[in-house]
Amino acid sequence: MDTSALPDTEHLAERARTALGRCGVGRLREPIGAAGVARTPITGQILFPVEFDTAASAERAVTAAHDTFTSAWRDTPAPVRGRLVHRFGELLREHKEDLAALVTIEAGKIHSEALGEVQEMIDICDLAVGLSRQLYGRTMPSERPGHRLMETWHPLGVVGVITAFNFPVAVWSWNTCVALVCGDTVVWKPSELTPLTALACHGLLMRAAEDVGAPADVHRLVLGDREVGEALVEDPRVALLSATGSTAMGRAVAPRVAARMGRYLLELGGNNAAVVAPSADLDLVVRGSVFAAAGTAGQRCTSLRRLIVHEDVADEVARRIVDAYKQLRDRIGDPFEESTLVGPLVGERAHTAMGAALARARADGGEVLVGGARWWEESAADAYYVEPAVVRMPGQTEVVREETFAPILYVLGYRTLEEAVELHNGVPQGLSSAIFTQDQAEAERFLSAAGSDCGIVNVNIGTSGAEIGGAFGGEKDTGGGRESGSDSWKAYMRRATNTVNYGGGLPLAQGVRFL
Ligand code: NAD
Repeated sequence: MDTSALPDTEHLAERARTALGRCGVGRLREPIGAAGVARTPITGQILFPVEFDTAASAERAVTAAHDTFTSAWRDTPAPVRGRLVHRFGELLREHKEDLAALVTIEAGKIHSEALGEVQEMIDICDLAVGLSRQLYGRTMPSERPGHRLMETWHPLGVVGVITAFNFPVAVWSWNTCVALVCGDTVVWKPSELTPLTALACHGLLMRAAEDVGAPADVHRLVLGDREVGEALVEDPRVALLSATGSTAMGRAVAPRVAARMGRYLLELGGNNAAVVAPSADLDLVVRGSVFAAAGTAGQRCTSLRRLIVHEDVADEVARRIVDAYKQLRDRIGDPFEESTLVGPLVGERAHTAMGAALARARADGGEVLVGGARWWEESAADAYYVEPAVVRMPGQTEVVREETFAPILYVLGYRTLEEAVELHNGVPQGLSSAIFTQDQAEAERFLSAAGSDCGIVNVNIGTSGAEIGGAFGGEKDTGGGRESGSDSWKAYMRRATNTVNYGGGLPLAQGVRFL
């Protein structure tokens, strides 16, 4: 394999320009003040300059979103708000290819996964439109005669959405589609690595707003790095800050939002594991693990990073996974190529982190069974293509307990289920988990309160690839937030408890007498 198989940067820039134009971008962005760039990990080179925001322009965006919230959006009936999201969903269906191309260009995701990410946006639109007629409150029997007790859900205000590079469009849409039907307005600060996908999403949403007569400032996009994000963190008009990214980012953001008594919703790093029991169907284990560990070049928050295998089957599982990884070697490269399964890492930092983690694992007594090499170091010096690695570890050392955002799968052994669960839960993060077993009692123990401590717990499938119908998120260092389906919408609204007296008298609760 040689680098002539990679597309050149000019071709990618042209492709990005075409996709952006089709999504209505070009006439959207006035000069603002900060010079940024759009880059592609496919070649590692700059595509073209992009105007970034400053803290001052981000503050103006919050003002606009806040004014629209108070003057229009919170009083627009929820089913009418749903029409905006419905129209947006139609536009996403029309522009699925355009957005997916931008995701591949900016995040380096293979095209099938990029299409899947846009499909996830379409799915959340469907869910949010249905939700716009189902923002249910409860009624409770009052203890007082002639009284009614109920709760009402109201919009919160401006929702600040900060997102990571690796799901550049889906995570924003989970937040935004739900927030919009809940009556909130949104200011979005995407990753500085993915400004083009953000411009395209914003362009399509603005077109939808125009089509249904919704105010344009229901959504504002601010581009830039941490400093621009901090403007949202600090602004008391941002009622909810929903931030997705590393645990380090969450640790920086959470106390600052809490200090101003704001709400936050955090979706942070994972260190996801699967337990493989002796009864497991090993075909499922191999297929499930290889997709979860090497898919998206190990750059999903739910990527499989630890395989905790019963000693009776550990050698066989390791051998079969290594065989499967060897076949991946022919499938590394241009993420637009249909045969490619492993695209590039996002950049140099990710590659350095991978090399450092492998060195530490070796120093801890780990054996690299396969992978780890970088490709095209000379001919594509700015791009970082790596062979996904599998490392057999003698124990769960410090490096295994950390999230390295790259394709490294650590294999650990266990003897009893208790030991497996202890290893499984013995990391700071708590996002996604799985058990492969044919033993129902064992599966139930893993799903129980004394089993996995994660927000996502699966049986006989891998750790990645969640659907939007369930609540998504995790515990411990993953931040505790929940987004997407189920009752996650409640995080985007405030609850009022109402007592209505229709009886004429004024009985007090708890039998209190006064006057
Ligand atoms: P990152 O933490 O470097 O950046 C994420 C976002 O936060 C970016 O937009 C960045 O500009 C912003 N940011 C960083 N510091 C900030 C600060 N102090 N104030 C305000 N904004 C700040 O993460 P990344 O490298 O883009 O993404 C990878 C990480 O994200 C991994 O740890 C991965 O597990 C995690 N992730 C989690 C989920 C989830 O749902 N749990 C989903 C995707 C990614």
